[in-house]
Amino acid sequence: MPLRSLKGFRKSIGFRLALWYSGIFILSSLLLFSLAFFHFSSSLKQQDKDAIQLKLKELSSLFQEGGMASLEKEVTVEKKFEKQSPFFIRLADKRNKTLFLIFPYQWADFDIKQLERPDSITASEWIRLPIRYTKHNMEIASAKLPNGYLLQTGRSTERRERTLMHFRKIFVAIIIPLIIVGVVGGTFLGFRALKPIRNLIDTIRSVSTGRMDSRVPSTHTGDELDLLIGFFNGMLEKIETLIVAMKGSLDNIAHDLRTPMTRLRGMAERALQSGQNPGEYKEALVGCIEESVHIQTILKTLMDISEAETGAMKLNLEEVSFSVIAGRVLDMYGFVAEEKAIQIHISIPDEFRVNADPSRLGQVLANLLDNAVKYTPKKGHIYLEAKQTSSENIITIKDTGIGISQQELPKIWDRLYRGDQSRPKRGLGLGLSLVKAVVNAHKGRVDVFSEPGKGSSFNIYFPTSK
Ligand code: ADP
Repeated sequence: MPLRSLKGFRKSIGFRLALWYSGIFILSSLLLFSLAFFHFSSSLKQQDKDAIQLKLKELSSLFQEGGMASLEKEVTVEKKFEKQSPFFIRLADKRNKTLFLIFPYQWADFDIKQLERPDSITASEWIRLPIRYTKHNMEIASAKLPNGYLLQTGRSTERRERTLMHFRKIFVAIIIPLIIVGVVGGTFLGFRALKPIRNLIDTIRSVSTGRMDSRVPSTHTGDELDLLIGFFNGMLEKIETLIVAMKGSLDNIAHDLRTPMTRLRGMAERALQSGQNPGEYKEALVGCIEESVHIQTILKTLMDISEAETGAMKLNLEEVSFSVIAGRVLDMYGFVAEEKAIQIHISIPDEFRVNADPSRLGQVLANLLDNAVKYTPKKGHIYLEAKQTSSENIITIKDTGIGISQQELPKIWDRLYRGDQSRPKRGLGLGLSLVKAVVNAHKGRVDVFSEPGKGSSFNIYFPTSK
């Protein structure tokens, strides 16, 4: 592993977490082992002491019953059968002079003289004598016999210490692989668990270098990190949509303003070159004002569409009575319809209400009615209907106009699209784009059914408020 990635590895949360957990694990294991070891060793010690005491009692009653002879007999039996854990036995007279002594040959290296010291005659406590050239000791219990003699029995601690050493070895043999598995496994699991974070870092890095389409791969686990990734990707999606929409708007503006701006400039230049009297200048100025109003309208509509599409449009939602909104819009378009002798048939239930921004809803209806009047020949009919289903409020604007061909239908919602037949009529090609964007911003949808020569039917669907 190169030095830099090794440094990075050591700095990683996964590795540090694994180290911390391993440290805590080792400490707790050591504590647990020490406790277990302490209890085990004290109970072994107690067992040894109990066995020595028992033997001492047994031997002293034997001595009292049958004297030296029965003691010697017992010792012979002892020698013969209890090779595994032999006892040390000593009998001393009143002056602590050894009368009788037996001990296994392995223990020959302990200092018997220490037992013959006068002060040890009265010793009723445990005596502990080191066995030379070994790490073991001899544990000896003493008892005073009724005749004043001293009987001592003992055992080496070798057996106990061997068992404890075995216990220690087993612990080490278990704990070392456990620690290795803990550190390696912990690091691996830590790395796996933090993979989504590393993916997040990679994605942020690539977004910051300009790759807006980068996304963090989802873990599909439904945990907190997966949720975070979902929200982060959603945020990126939104930012990308905003940027694309802004770019699209700029392109459209640049493209669509070129013609009116050229016209504006042409008008002013012509007036300057050929204009001889104030009347001509005035005419040119009126033309310039008209063009600038046209440019302003394009800019405003494009901005509105952009805001609605990106979710930046501020909507003052309320439960509005649709017949009131429709009444206002019809006041404006009624005259134009009358001029063309077009009849408008209205069927809106009084209680029909929509959860919408009143002025935006009015704008949507105005655009659709404007189109209906524009693209319906004289003496035609327009139907404005509203109905409610269990989940949607549906508004329909139907006309008996020129209709739209199947090839054109998918394009009519695009920005700046104008149908072939609509070219001679006034318009920007932005009305339906705004309708769709505003309705979508209300979480609604639009569709259209049309047949060339027979008419079109535009439907707006608003979700019913719960
Ligand atoms: P425009 O300013 O051209 O009306 P719109 O975005 O409102 O722009 O409409 C896009 C195109 O959809 C129109 O140019 C026209 O071809 C078609 N269209 C829209 N409404 C109707 C309608 N009611 N009847 C027939 N064609 C329509």
